[in-house]
Amino acid sequence: DPELSDEFLLLLSWADEVRKLGVRANADNPEDAGKALEFGAGGIGLCRTEHMFMDPKRIPIVQEMILAENYEERMIALDKLLPMQQGDFEGIFEAMQGLPVTIRLLDPPMHEFLPDKEELLVEVTKLQMTDPDSSELKEKEYLLKKVNQLAEFNPMLGHRGCRLGMIFPEIYEMQAKAIFNAVVTLIDRGLSVEPEIMIPLVGHVNELKAMRQLVVETAEKVKEETGKEFNYLVGTMIEIPRAALTADQIAEEADFFSFGTNDLTQTTFGYSRDDAEGKFLQAYIEQKVLPENPFAVLDQQGVGKLVETGVKLGRQVKPSLKTGICGEHGGEKSSIEFCYQAGLDYVSCSPYRVPLARLAAAQATIRHEQSNEKATIVSK
Ligand code: PEP
Ligand code: MG
Repeated sequence: DPELSDEFLLLLSWADEVRKLGVRANADNPEDAGKALEFGAGGIGLCRTEHMFMDPKRIPIVQEMILAENYEERMIALDKLLPMQQGDFEGIFEAMQGLPVTIRLLDPPMHEFLPDKEELLVEVTKLQMTDPDSSELKEKEYLLKKVNQLAEFNPMLGHRGCRLGMIFPEIYEMQAKAIFNAVVTLIDRGLSVEPEIMIPLVGHVNELKAMRQLVVETAEKVKEETGKEFNYLVGTMIEIPRAALTADQIAEEADFFSFGTNDLTQTTFGYSRDDAEGKFLQAYIEQKVLPENPFAVLDQQGVGKLVETGVKLGRQVKPSLKTGICGEHGGEKSSIEFCYQAGLDYVSCSPYRVPLARLAAAQATIRHEQSNEKATIVSK
Protein backbone atom coordinates (compact mmCIF):
# COMPACT_ATOMS: atom_id res chain seq x y z
CA ASP A 1 0.00 0.00 0.00
CA PRO A 2 1.56 3.32 -1.03
CA GLU A 3 -0.04 5.01 2.03
CA LEU A 4 2.62 5.43 4.70
CA SER A 5 1.52 5.93 8.31
CA ASP A 6 2.43 9.14 10.13
CA GLU A 7 4.73 7.22 12.49
CA PHE A 8 6.57 5.64 9.58
CA LEU A 9 6.88 9.00 7.83
CA LEU A 10 8.38 10.45 11.02
CA LEU A 11 10.84 7.57 11.19
CA LEU A 12 11.77 8.16 7.55
CA SER A 13 12.34 11.85 8.21
CA TRP A 14 14.77 10.91 11.00
CA ALA A 15 16.47 8.48 8.62
CA ASP A 16 16.87 11.27 6.08
CA GLU A 17 18.56 13.49 8.66
CA VAL A 18 21.10 10.77 9.40
CA ARG A 19 21.85 9.14 6.06
CA LYS A 20 24.73 10.18 3.84
CA LEU A 21 23.77 7.99 0.90
CA GLY A 22 21.36 9.48 -1.63
CA VAL A 23 18.31 7.44 -2.58
CA ARG A 24 16.93 7.64 -6.08
CA ALA A 25 14.38 5.52 -7.92
CA ASN A 26 14.28 3.58 -11.15
CA ALA A 27 11.34 4.93 -13.16
CA ASP A 28 10.45 5.01 -16.84
CA ASN A 29 7.25 7.03 -16.96
CA PRO A 30 5.61 10.00 -15.20
CA GLU A 31 3.40 7.74 -13.03
CA ASP A 32 6.38 5.84 -11.60
CA ALA A 33 8.28 9.11 -11.29
CA GLY A 34 5.34 10.47 -9.26
CA LYS A 35 5.40 7.38 -7.03
CA ALA A 36 9.16 7.79 -6.62
CA LEU A 37 8.64 11.34 -5.37
CA GLU A 38 5.83 10.27 -3.06
CA PHE A 39 8.16 7.71 -1.47
CA GLY A 40 10.88 10.31 -1.01
CA ALA A 41 13.28 9.60 -3.87
CA GLY A 42 15.83 12.34 -4.49
CA GLY A 43 15.76 11.83 -8.24
CA ILE A 44 15.66 9.15 -10.88
CA GLY A 45 18.77 6.99 -11.00
CA LEU A 46 17.70 4.92 -13.98
CA CYS A 47 15.15 5.61 -16.67
CA ARG A 48 15.20 2.59 -18.99
CA THR A 49 14.19 4.03 -22.36
CA GLU A 50 13.62 0.62 -24.00
CA HIS A 51 10.37 0.39 -22.04
CA MET A 52 9.13 3.41 -24.00
CA PHE A 53 9.79 1.58 -27.25
CA MET A 54 7.68 -1.38 -26.09
CA ASP A 55 4.44 0.63 -26.19
CA PRO A 56 2.13 -1.44 -28.46
CA LYS A 57 1.29 1.70 -30.48
CA ARG A 58 4.98 2.24 -31.20
CA ILE A 59 6.02 -1.32 -31.99
CA PRO A 60 5.22 -0.99 -35.73
CA ILE A 61 7.45 2.09 -35.96
CA VAL A 62 10.17 0.45 -33.91
CA GLN A 63 9.99 -2.56 -36.23
CA GLU A 64 10.25 -0.19 -39.17
CA MET A 65 13.41 1.19 -37.58
CA ILE A 66 14.94 -2.26 -37.04
CA LEU A 67 13.88 -3.67 -40.38
CA ALA A 68 15.12 -0.67 -42.36
CA GLU A 69 17.32 -1.63 -45.28
CA ASN A 70 19.50 1.45 -44.97
CA TYR A 71 20.18 4.68 -43.10
CA GLU A 72 17.57 6.73 -45.01
CA GLU A 73 14.82 4.24 -44.25
CA ARG A 74 15.86 4.08 -40.62
CA MET A 75 15.75 7.88 -40.39
CA ILE A 76 12.13 7.91 -41.56
CA ALA A 77 11.18 5.71 -38.60
CA LEU A 78 13.40 7.66 -36.20
CA ASP A 79 11.79 10.95 -37.26
CA LYS A 80 8.45 9.48 -36.22
CA LEU A 81 9.82 8.34 -32.88
CA LEU A 82 11.52 11.66 -32.07
CA PRO A 83 8.41 13.67 -31.03
CA MET A 84 7.11 10.69 -29.02
CA GLN A 85 10.38 10.39 -27.13
CA GLN A 86 10.46 14.13 -26.56
CA GLY A 87 7.00 13.85 -25.00
CA ASP A 88 8.20 10.95 -22.81
CA PHE A 89 11.09 13.00 -21.44
CA GLU A 90 9.02 16.16 -20.94
CA GLY A 91 6.59 14.07 -18.88
CA ILE A 92 9.31 12.61 -16.69
CA PHE A 93 11.18 15.91 -16.20
CA GLU A 94 7.95 17.64 -15.32
CA ALA A 95 6.98 14.94 -12.82
CA MET A 96 10.42 15.17 -11.15
CA GLN A 97 10.19 18.96 -10.75
CA GLY A 98 13.83 19.69 -11.47
CA LEU A 99 15.33 16.83 -9.43
CA PRO A 100 18.10 14.87 -11.18
CA VAL A 101 17.00 12.41 -13.84
CA THR A 102 19.37 9.82 -15.31
CA ILE A 103 18.21 8.71 -18.72
CA ARG A 104 19.80 5.62 -20.12
CA LEU A 105 19.98 5.36 -23.88
CA LEU A 106 18.42 2.33 -25.52
CA ASP A 107 19.54 -1.04 -24.14
CA PRO A 108 17.45 -3.92 -25.48
CA PRO A 109 18.35 -7.08 -27.21
CA MET A 110 17.15 -5.95 -30.68
CA HIS A 111 15.11 -9.06 -31.38
CA GLU A 112 12.83 -8.30 -28.41
CA PHE A 113 10.98 -5.85 -30.60
CA LEU A 114 10.36 -8.32 -33.36
CA PRO A 115 7.50 -10.80 -33.78
CA ASP A 116 7.82 -14.30 -32.38
CA LYS A 117 9.90 -16.46 -34.72
CA GLU A 118 7.91 -19.67 -34.24
CA GLU A 119 4.58 -17.93 -34.88
CA LEU A 120 6.01 -16.27 -37.96
CA LEU A 121 7.27 -19.59 -39.28
CA VAL A 122 3.79 -21.12 -38.89
CA GLU A 123 2.22 -18.14 -40.72
CA VAL A 124 4.73 -18.32 -43.57
CA THR A 125 4.25 -22.08 -44.00
CA LYS A 126 0.47 -21.62 -44.04
CA LEU A 127 0.65 -18.82 -46.63
CA GLN A 128 3.04 -20.81 -48.78
CA MET A 129 0.35 -23.45 -49.07
CA THR A 130 -2.77 -21.26 -49.31
CA ASP A 131 -1.63 -18.05 -51.00
CA PRO A 132 1.86 -18.49 -52.44
CA ASP A 133 1.77 -15.36 -54.65
CA SER A 134 0.47 -12.94 -52.02
CA SER A 135 2.32 -9.80 -50.98
CA GLU A 136 1.54 -10.80 -47.38
CA LEU A 137 3.71 -13.88 -47.84
CA LYS A 138 6.55 -11.76 -49.25
CA GLU A 139 6.33 -9.40 -46.27
CA LYS A 140 6.25 -12.24 -43.76
CA GLU A 141 9.18 -13.99 -45.46
CA TYR A 142 11.20 -10.78 -45.31
CA LEU A 143 10.32 -10.39 -41.65
CA LEU A 144 11.36 -13.97 -40.95
CA LYS A 145 14.67 -13.40 -42.70
CA LYS A 146 15.30 -10.32 -40.55
CA VAL A 147 14.28 -12.11 -37.34
CA ASN A 148 16.74 -14.87 -38.21
CA GLN A 149 19.46 -12.32 -38.96
CA LEU A 150 18.92 -10.61 -35.62
CA ALA A 151 18.65 -13.81 -33.59
CA GLU A 152 21.54 -14.42 -31.21
CA PHE A 153 22.50 -17.44 -29.11
CA ASN A 154 23.15 -15.22 -26.10
CA PRO A 155 21.09 -12.05 -26.60
CA MET A 156 21.97 -10.69 -23.16
CA LEU A 157 25.64 -10.84 -24.15
CA GLY A 158 24.88 -9.71 -27.65
CA HIS A 159 24.08 -6.68 -29.71
CA ARG A 160 22.60 -4.50 -26.99
CA GLY A 161 23.51 -1.39 -25.02
CA CYS A 162 26.09 0.92 -26.57
CA ARG A 163 26.92 -1.78 -29.10
CA LEU A 164 23.64 -0.78 -30.70
CA GLY A 165 24.54 2.90 -30.53
CA MET A 166 27.95 2.22 -32.05
CA ILE A 167 26.48 0.41 -35.07
CA PHE A 168 23.38 2.64 -35.44
CA PRO A 169 24.47 6.02 -33.99
CA GLU A 170 21.34 7.65 -35.43
CA ILE A 171 19.24 5.83 -32.80
CA TYR A 172 21.18 7.34 -29.90
CA GLU A 173 21.30 10.68 -31.71
CA MET A 174 17.50 10.70 -31.93
CA GLN A 175 17.24 9.97 -28.21
CA ALA A 176 19.75 12.66 -27.27
CA LYS A 177 17.92 15.16 -29.46
CA ALA A 178 14.61 14.23 -27.82
CA ILE A 179 16.14 14.72 -24.37
CA PHE A 180 17.61 18.14 -25.21
CA ASN A 181 14.45 19.30 -27.00
CA ALA A 182 12.50 18.34 -23.88
CA VAL A 183 14.95 20.29 -21.71
CA VAL A 184 14.46 23.37 -23.90
CA THR A 185 10.67 23.04 -23.77
CA LEU A 186 10.78 22.88 -19.98
CA ILE A 187 13.14 25.84 -19.74
CA ASP A 188 10.50 27.75 -21.75
CA ARG A 189 7.96 26.69 -19.11
CA GLY A 190 10.22 27.95 -16.32
CA LEU A 191 11.62 24.62 -15.09
CA SER A 192 15.36 24.15 -15.07
CA VAL A 193 16.46 20.61 -15.90
CA GLU A 194 19.96 19.17 -16.06
CA PRO A 195 19.66 15.69 -17.58
CA GLU A 196 22.16 12.96 -16.88
CA ILE A 197 22.58 10.91 -20.02
CA MET A 198 23.82 7.40 -19.43
CA ILE A 199 25.50 5.04 -21.89
CA PRO A 200 24.84 1.35 -21.18
CA LEU A 201 27.04 -1.75 -21.39
CA VAL A 202 30.34 0.03 -21.94
CA GLY A 203 33.30 -2.35 -21.84
CA HIS A 204 35.93 -0.22 -23.56
CA VAL A 205 36.64 3.49 -23.16
CA ASN A 206 36.45 3.95 -26.93
CA GLU A 207 32.76 3.07 -26.88
CA LEU A 208 32.07 5.76 -24.31
CA LYS A 209 34.28 8.25 -26.11
CA ALA A 210 32.35 7.83 -29.37
CA MET A 211 28.91 7.91 -27.74
CA ARG A 212 29.81 10.89 -25.58
CA GLN A 213 30.96 12.79 -28.65
CA LEU A 214 27.67 12.00 -30.36
CA VAL A 215 25.72 13.35 -27.38
CA VAL A 216 27.89 16.48 -27.14
CA GLU A 217 27.51 17.22 -30.86
CA THR A 218 23.76 16.73 -30.61
CA ALA A 219 23.58 19.12 -27.65
CA GLU A 220 25.53 21.73 -29.63
CA LYS A 221 23.11 21.39 -32.54
CA VAL A 222 20.06 21.81 -30.32
CA LYS A 223 21.65 24.85 -28.63
CA GLU A 224 22.35 26.39 -32.02
CA GLU A 225 18.87 25.66 -33.38
CA THR A 226 17.02 26.94 -30.30
CA GLY A 227 19.38 29.62 -29.07
CA LYS A 228 18.97 28.15 -25.57
CA GLU A 229 21.73 27.27 -23.09
CA PHE A 230 21.48 24.23 -20.85
CA ASN A 231 23.72 21.91 -18.87
CA TYR A 232 23.86 18.15 -18.91
CA LEU A 233 26.05 15.27 -17.82
CA VAL A 234 27.19 12.26 -19.79
CA GLY A 235 28.03 9.16 -17.80
CA THR A 236 28.16 5.44 -18.07
CA MET A 237 26.87 2.25 -16.60
CA ILE A 238 29.61 0.10 -15.12
CA GLU A 239 28.20 -3.37 -15.67
CA ILE A 240 30.91 -5.27 -17.50
CA PRO A 241 33.96 -6.41 -15.47
CA ARG A 242 36.31 -4.84 -18.01
CA ALA A 243 34.71 -1.46 -17.42
CA ALA A 244 35.32 -1.76 -13.66
CA LEU A 245 38.91 -2.85 -14.23
CA THR A 246 39.62 0.03 -16.63
CA ALA A 247 37.53 2.59 -14.75
CA ASP A 248 40.44 5.05 -14.69
CA GLN A 249 40.41 5.27 -18.49
CA ILE A 250 36.63 5.31 -18.57
CA ALA A 251 36.42 8.10 -15.97
CA GLU A 252 38.27 10.40 -18.39
CA GLU A 253 35.14 10.33 -20.55
CA ALA A 254 32.48 10.13 -17.82
CA ASP A 255 30.80 12.66 -15.57
CA PHE A 256 29.31 9.85 -13.49
CA PHE A 257 29.30 6.08 -13.03
CA SER A 258 26.27 3.98 -12.26
CA PHE A 259 26.93 0.37 -11.36
CA GLY A 260 24.55 -1.98 -13.12
CA THR A 261 24.91 -4.86 -10.74
CA ASN A 262 22.34 -7.04 -12.55
CA ASP A 263 24.59 -7.33 -15.58
CA LEU A 264 27.74 -7.10 -13.46
CA THR A 265 26.56 -10.15 -11.48
CA GLN A 266 25.74 -11.97 -14.70
CA THR A 267 29.09 -11.24 -16.27
CA THR A 268 31.22 -11.72 -13.16
CA PHE A 269 29.78 -15.12 -12.26
CA GLY A 270 29.12 -16.01 -15.89
CA TYR A 271 25.52 -16.89 -14.86
CA SER A 272 22.75 -16.01 -17.28
CA ARG A 273 20.50 -13.53 -15.49
CA ASP A 274 17.54 -14.95 -17.44
CA ASP A 275 18.13 -18.61 -16.65
CA ALA A 276 20.26 -19.18 -13.55
CA GLU A 277 17.52 -18.49 -10.98
CA GLY A 278 15.19 -20.99 -12.64
CA LYS A 279 17.83 -23.70 -13.05
CA PHE A 280 20.60 -24.38 -10.59
CA LEU A 281 20.82 -21.36 -8.29
CA GLN A 282 18.30 -22.65 -5.74
CA ALA A 283 20.18 -25.95 -5.49
CA TYR A 284 23.43 -24.04 -5.10
CA ILE A 285 21.99 -22.15 -2.17
CA GLU A 286 20.61 -25.35 -0.59
CA GLN A 287 24.00 -27.06 -1.02
CA LYS A 288 25.61 -23.96 0.52
CA VAL A 289 27.78 -23.43 -2.54
CA LEU A 290 26.51 -19.86 -2.36
CA PRO A 291 25.22 -18.14 0.78
CA GLU A 292 22.37 -16.48 -1.14
CA ASN A 293 21.10 -15.50 -4.56
CA PRO A 294 23.73 -13.07 -5.91
CA PHE A 295 21.13 -11.46 -8.20
CA ALA A 296 19.21 -10.39 -5.08
CA VAL A 297 21.98 -9.80 -2.52
CA LEU A 298 25.20 -8.23 -3.77
CA ASP A 299 28.11 -10.67 -3.78
CA GLN A 300 30.61 -8.59 -1.85
CA GLN A 301 33.63 -10.79 -2.49
CA GLY A 302 33.44 -10.83 -6.28
CA VAL A 303 30.97 -8.34 -7.75
CA GLY A 304 31.54 -5.99 -4.82
CA LYS A 305 35.28 -6.04 -5.40
CA LEU A 306 34.65 -4.84 -8.95
CA VAL A 307 32.41 -2.06 -7.62
CA GLU A 308 35.13 -0.97 -5.17
CA THR A 309 37.75 -1.15 -7.90
CA GLY A 310 35.58 0.92 -10.24
CA VAL A 311 35.01 3.62 -7.61
CA LYS A 312 38.68 3.72 -6.61
CA LEU A 313 40.08 3.86 -10.14
CA GLY A 314 37.44 6.34 -11.31
CA ARG A 315 38.12 8.71 -8.41
CA GLN A 316 41.87 8.51 -8.92
CA VAL A 317 41.23 10.34 -12.18
CA LYS A 318 38.22 12.41 -11.10
CA PRO A 319 38.06 12.81 -7.31
CA SER A 320 34.54 14.24 -7.46
CA LEU A 321 33.18 11.58 -9.83
CA LYS A 322 29.51 10.97 -8.99
CA THR A 323 28.79 7.28 -8.41
CA GLY A 324 25.63 5.29 -7.89
CA ILE A 325 24.13 1.87 -8.26
CA CYS A 326 20.97 1.08 -10.20
CA GLY A 327 20.83 -2.73 -10.26
CA GLU A 328 18.25 -4.62 -8.15
CA HIS A 329 20.73 -4.55 -5.26
CA GLY A 330 20.15 -0.81 -4.85
CA GLY A 331 17.00 -1.67 -2.88
CA GLU A 332 18.38 -4.46 -0.73
CA LYS A 333 19.44 -3.79 2.85
CA SER A 334 22.86 -5.47 3.11
CA SER A 335 23.78 -4.38 -0.42
CA ILE A 336 22.93 -0.79 0.51
CA GLU A 337 25.28 -0.99 3.48
CA PHE A 338 27.97 -2.26 1.14
CA CYS A 339 27.32 0.66 -1.25
CA TYR A 340 27.74 3.09 1.63
CA GLN A 341 31.05 1.52 2.61
CA ALA A 342 32.23 1.48 -1.01
CA GLY A 343 31.76 5.27 -1.01
CA LEU A 344 28.93 5.51 -3.52
CA ASP A 345 26.94 8.73 -3.61
CA TYR A 346 23.52 7.15 -4.10
CA VAL A 347 21.53 3.99 -4.61
CA SER A 348 18.64 3.73 -7.03
CA CYS A 349 15.86 1.18 -6.71
CA SER A 350 12.23 0.60 -7.63
CA PRO A 351 9.92 3.29 -6.21
CA TYR A 352 8.33 0.89 -3.70
CA ARG A 353 11.71 0.03 -2.20
CA VAL A 354 12.67 3.69 -1.70
CA PRO A 355 11.40 3.89 1.94
CA LEU A 356 13.34 0.73 2.85
CA ALA A 357 16.42 2.11 1.11
CA ARG A 358 16.15 5.37 3.09
CA LEU A 359 16.06 3.40 6.35
CA ALA A 360 18.86 1.05 5.30
CA ALA A 361 21.03 4.01 4.26
CA ALA A 362 20.52 5.61 7.69
CA GLN A 363 21.29 2.34 9.48
CA ALA A 364 24.51 1.99 7.46
CA THR A 365 25.60 5.49 8.52
CA ILE A 366 24.78 4.86 12.17
CA ARG A 367 26.54 1.50 12.27
CA HIS A 368 29.58 2.83 10.46
CA GLU A 369 29.88 6.00 12.50
CA GLN A 370 29.38 4.08 15.74
CA SER A 371 32.16 1.67 14.84
CA ASN A 372 34.34 4.65 13.91
CA GLU A 373 33.65 6.22 17.29
CA LYS A 374 34.50 2.96 19.04
CA ALA A 375 37.69 2.69 17.01
CA THR A 376 38.63 6.24 18.02
CA ILE A 377 38.00 5.47 21.71
CA VAL A 378 40.06 2.28 21.52
CA SER A 379 42.94 4.06 19.82
CA LYS A 380 42.88 6.76 22.50
C1 PEP B 1 21.86 -3.61 -14.50
O1 PEP B 1 22.36 -4.31 -15.38
O2 PEP B 1 22.12 -3.73 -13.30
C2 PEP B 1 20.88 -2.56 -14.85
C3 PEP B 1 20.45 -1.72 -13.95
O3 PEP B 1 20.43 -2.52 -16.14
P1 PEP B 1 19.37 -3.56 -16.72
O4 PEP B 1 18.81 -4.34 -15.57
O5 PEP B 1 18.34 -2.76 -17.40
O6 PEP B 1 20.22 -4.37 -17.64
MG1 MG C 1 22.25 -3.71 -17.45
